[in-house]
Amino acid sequence: MKPAAFDYNKPADLAAALHALSGDAKPIAGGQSLTPMLNLRLARPAALVDIRRQADLLKISEAPDAIRYGAALPHAAFEDGAVPDGTNGMMRHVAGGIAYRAVRNRGTIGGSIAHADPAADWISALLALDARVIVQGAKGETAWPLDRFMLGGFTTVLEAGDLITGVSVPRLSPSARWAYYKICRKTGEFAKAIGAVVSDPDRGVFRIVCGAIEVTPILLEARSVEAALAEIDSRLADHAPAARQLYKTAMRRALEGLGETSA
Ligand SMILES: Cc1cc2nc3c(=O)[nH]c(=O)nc-3n(C[C@H](O)[C@H](O)[C@H](O)COP(=O)(O)OP(=O)(O)OC[C@H]3O[C@@H](n4cnc5c(N)ncnc54)[C@H](O)[C@@H]3O)c2cc1C
Repeated sequence: MKPAAFDYNKPADLAAALHALSGDAKPIAGGQSLTPMLNLRLARPAALVDIRRQADLLKISEAPDAIRYGAALPHAAFEDGAVPDGTNGMMRHVAGGIAYRAVRNRGTIGGSIAHADPAADWISALLALDARVIVQGAKGETAWPLDRFMLGGFTTVLEAGDLITGVSVPRLSPSARWAYYKICRKTGEFAKAIGAVVSDPDRGVFRIVCGAIEVTPILLEARSVEAALAEIDSRLADHAPAARQLYKTAMRRALEGLGETSA
């Protein structure tokens, strides 16, 4: 099937992109999710606003406590270490496990967050890292914690005309440890279950995330392996036992691997 007809804009800067998004228009970044939706006519915007190589959305700004990444940075930039990393290698590791290289060359961090596929890697990893999604729109700029930005599977706070301009990721202490365990049928596929953990005692941070659960990933209250497994059992009681077992396996391996993957 071919997409329905649409206008195409490639704005010169961020202001022009925001202007072009007023009306029935959608941003297109890497096109890895949107193109199939257009082809299947699940999305039929009157216009596409191409932000893939938009210079304002490729910027990186470093502060002592966080790094802000432009939304149009591709996964490959993180995988290749072409951008600064304040997470002791976690973002690089996560990026390298997304799909396969051709997808990582085009797919962007902002596009992935906006699409809000519950099985996507960035949303779980960035929730564990306590990142903020920076959204620019008619109401100005808002920095959303991931679990407030994502309202459910494929559903976010984004309104027509809004654009994710970046994501701000707190810097981990040098002694911080992390683990990210993704269960998928074969390399290059979306996750069936994700366990993501960030332990940064110097900053008083310990965050455990259970992801790929059809809705927004959940931040667990548990602080130990056994407590985390029990919490998954109770919070995902409506899931089939086999699915729960998968989440528990991802979580156990992440928690047990904490430290081994921190280099
Ligand atoms: C074969 C295949 C395998 C994949 N496997 C994985 C995987 O294992 N793990 C994983 O995490 N992902 C996976 N993906 C998804 C991929 O990583 C892309 O990140 C994701 O599809 C969206 O990014 P994009 O830049 O291509 O966005 P697009 O497809 O261009 O856009 C997606 C949606 O986001 C909106 N959008 C894009 N950018 C912005 C923005 N800055 N602000 C507001 N809205 C925006 C668009 O309007 C559209 O609605 C896979 C994709 C494919 C095709």
